[in-house]
This record gives sequence, structure tokens and C-alpha cells, in this order.
Amino acid sequence: MPRIALIPGDGIGPEVTAEARKVLESVAASEGLALDLVQWPHGAQRYLDTGATITPEEMAELERDYDAIMLGALGDPRVPGNEHARDILLGLRFKLDLYINLRPVKLVDARFSPLKGVAAADVDMVIVRENTEGVYVGLGGTFKRGTPDELAIEEDVNTRKGVERIVRAAFAYAREHGRRRVTLADKANAMPNAGGLYRRVFAEVAREYGEITSSAMYVDAMAMDMVLHPAKYDVVVASNLFGDILSDLAAALAGGLGIAPSANLHPGKPGLFEPVHGSAPDIAGQDRANPLASVLTAALMLEHLGNAGAAARVEAAVDASIRAGATTPDLGGTLGTGAVGDWICRELEKGR
Ligand code: ATP
Repeated sequence: MPRIALIPGDGIGPEVTAEARKVLESVAASEGLALDLVQWPHGAQRYLDTGATITPEEMAELERDYDAIMLGALGDPRVPGNEHARDILLGLRFKLDLYINLRPVKLVDARFSPLKGVAAADVDMVIVRENTEGVYVGLGGTFKRGTPDELAIEEDVNTRKGVERIVRAAFAYAREHGRRRVTLADKANAMPNAGGLYRRVFAEVAREYGEITSSAMYVDAMAMDMVLHPAKYDVVVASNLFGDILSDLAAALAGGLGIAPSANLHPGKPGLFEPVHGSAPDIAGQDRANPLASVLTAALMLEHLGNAGAAARVEAAVDASIRAGATTPDLGGTLGTGAVGDWICRELEKGR
């Protein structure tokens, strides 16, 4: 039986995770699927009470005894440096070497896109972002800090191994999901060292996937084109920095943070699943948080755990709630967080 650690976390995290849990329990019951959901208390409150973020033993336990980790959100104004969030999120990402950041972006209803004249089917892409290297590794430093001669260096670290495994993950995902095109985003003109490595590896791996159309684009051109012609994009693979930026752009095209799920993966290890949004302290405790990103994150997790049928049913129920306007105010609806979760559970019941 898959064992899942639920870490609701801070702010709206517990509210949206409660709905995701309800939906998971409902779909599991109707599919005859046993899930062992274990709630973990980690977050700002626990950090403030005990001074503990996450211990090495707890990390080891998650790696050893769990199949997946589902996070609500971490971030609390009472912890201005967000040490607990950094320790838990980055700790897990690095300890488990979760090198794939998967962000599916799908427009359910054209009303929610900021673009003019798009059909829902025009925005349906998956950003596969490298999650462990690039400019986010923190290599570098400053010199003459605070003076007019200050110098700041942020190194862009790209290894053959790191590039190859993320490019392979993108093509493997495309093949597994019947997607037809993989596009690489880089900046090989202005950053020829990193970009050159990405392009060479991409071309090599692409040869093994003859049925998939592959192309490489400069990231600036892609950012513009993604807004103008979103339908051209299917699977997009990019370094940590470019993937970070493009995935937020893509999420905006599909209706924003309230419905954007994500997964951090390393095949063979427990994945870390989390909605893209943060803890949104401004709306916490008001029954206004949109739970759909968290529910779609649960669907992504089900799929990853080998329950594609259950995942598809949850996605269909979410689509139905959006089409019916059974949503929280950020998507134009009038329901509260809990009522949206209940609506989705009822929809799942109907499909039994
Ligand atoms: P972080 O640094 O953790 O990403 P943030 O405050 O920059 O946090 P979010 O917490 O994602 O970013 O929220 C940005 C804004 O978007 C919030 O203030 C909130 O109004 C809105 N928002 C985010 N998530 C949701 C949600 N699930 N439902 C409704 N509104 C949301």
C-alpha cells in the first residue's frame, strides 16, 4: 500500500491540503485503492515551538518508509527568513536528489487565460525544469560588498550528468504520455558553454526518440512566442533558471496560481508533490483559498504512484468544477475552500 507523508505546512497549506486529502480518500474508496496517509506536523508553528525544522533522521525516514510526500505550503511572516521552509523544501530536494521539476499547465476554460482569442485546447504543456543545478546552486560570492566597486558572482553549474538526465526525463515523459514535441529552452547564443552542452545532449537524446519532434529555442524568443502561440508548446525542457521563469509564465497563461500543480521527482525515490502557490498568508483562515492546485497535485501524485485512472478521474472532476463555476472567488466563483472540495467529491461519487 503506498505510504504518503502529508505535510500541510503553513498559511493556506493546511486548508488546501485538507481538501486534497478528502479528494484522495474519496477517489481511493471508489477505486478500491488503499492509501496510507500519514500527517506530518512540520511547518512554521512547530519551528517556533521547538526550534526544529526537519532532522536528518526524519529525512531518512521519508526516503526509506514513504512512496510520496505531499506538501501544502511553507512560509510564515513570523519566520521572516523562512529557515524552516528552506530546510524542509531544499533539504528534501537535495537529500532525495529530486532533479526533475514537473509542472503541467493546462487551460480548462478560455475565460481564465489572460490571452485574447485562445481556445482551452491551445494551452496544454508540461515544463520539465532541472531542479538541482544551474545558477541556483549558490556558488559564487561578492567582493568589495557595499562599495561602489562591488562585484557579485553567481556561477551557472551544468554537468553532463545533470543535463543528460533532465533531457532524458523530458523525452521519456513525452513518450510515456503520448506527447509529440519536446522543445529545449536555452540561451546558447549568449551563454554558449552551458547552452552548447544542453544543445549537444538534446540532439543526442532526441535521436533515440524518432517519433517525437524536437527543437531548440532561445529562451527570450520562447517567452515571447509562448504568449503569442501557446499551442506550439507541448513538453518544454529547461535549466533551473529558465524553467523557473517559463513555468510561472505558462501557469499565468492557464489561469494562475490557484490551479497550478507541481512534482519534484527522481525515479525510484519518493516524489515531493506541491502546489506551485505559496502559503498566501493574506488569505489564510478565511475559507477563500483555492484548493484546486492542491487537488491537481494529488492527481499528479496518484499518476506517479501508478494510478493513472484515479488521477484522470480527479482531473476530470476538477475540470467539471471549473466549467460549472463551482470555484473560489479567485476563479470567479462564490464557494469556500471546503465547499469546492465537497463539490469535487460529489462529482467523483457521480462518476462511480
Ligand atoms: P511564496 O514566497 O511562498 O511563493 P508569495 O506570497 O510570494 O509566497 P503566494 O503565497 O503563492 O506567493 O501568493 C501570492 C498571492 O496569490 C497571494 O497573496 C494570494 O492572494 C494569491 N494566491 C496564492 N495561492 C492562492 C490560492 N490557492 N487561492 C487563492 N489565492 C491564492
